Amino acid sequence: MPLETPLANFETGVMFWAGRDPGETLSELRGMGLRCGQLGIPGDLDLSCAPAWKAALRAAEFTVVTVFAGYNGESYADIPTVQDTVGFIPARFREEREARTLGISDFAREIGCHGIGLHVGCLPEDETDADYIAVREMVRRIADHAARNHQTFALETGQEKAESLRAFLIDVNRENVGINFDPANMILYGTGDPIEALGVLGQHIFSVHCKDGDWPPAGQPGALGMERPLGSGSVGMERYLRKLKQIGYKGPLAIEREAENAAERLRDIKAAIALLTEIKAGLA
Ligand code: MG
Repeated sequence: MPLETPLANFETGVMFWAGRDPGETLSELRGMGLRCGQLGIPGDLDLSCAPAWKAALRAAEFTVVTVFAGYNGESYADIPTVQDTVGFIPARFREEREARTLGISDFAREIGCHGIGLHVGCLPEDETDADYIAVREMVRRIADHAARNHQTFALETGQEKAESLRAFLIDVNRENVGINFDPANMILYGTGDPIEALGVLGQHIFSVHCKDGDWPPAGQPGALGMERPLGSGSVGMERYLRKLKQIGYKGPLAIEREAENAAERLRDIKAAIALLTEIKAGLA
């Protein structure tokens, strides 16, 4: 099904979360001039809200390009905690999270969205590792379910090096599996320069986040870097957009900002919209 409102190349969008009234959430985003985004679904959200989201999206003429799954029990406190709680790596959560992800794919189908996304967690590099194999098989089963729903399935970047993620994608061997590229995550986790990573992962990129951050503090093993408002961190937004253009990316630019409170988040998103508008004008 084609998008009802065609999006421009590099159209500015936002990563936002379900939980409040869909109509109120979308009118806030439309008030900032946005027409597209990626909808995150918290692990405890009742998925029976799909019809309400579908109606609100239609009324607001707003396109959700990806539905992102979050899971109960996840914590991003520091790198060891991420390894222990996030995505498909912790074996104790796999069965529950696989079922939930199939539900997320069905939710996305119900609201007319053609992509799902998530963090799989910190993949081992050793392809004979039992966790690696279990996660690969899980990704294949979810990918096949998503394919039946006419969806792509994007893995969020950050918790592994670009080369490892690329090797994993090739091993998964499903056409509808690719990447949601987040340049800040690579910096926050210290996994590599995001602009170089774009060169490695280019052909596998389905969608991108525009997020900023600083490298982990020196001398504190396991610590994550700090997320920053767009333009204030170490990514370099202009060189990021230039590189995206160079590798032929044409999809939306989804601003992602997790701030301390709602007012700060809104303020930072508005500033990010202005920054992206300015940078895009310079690229034209
Ligand atoms: Mg992200």
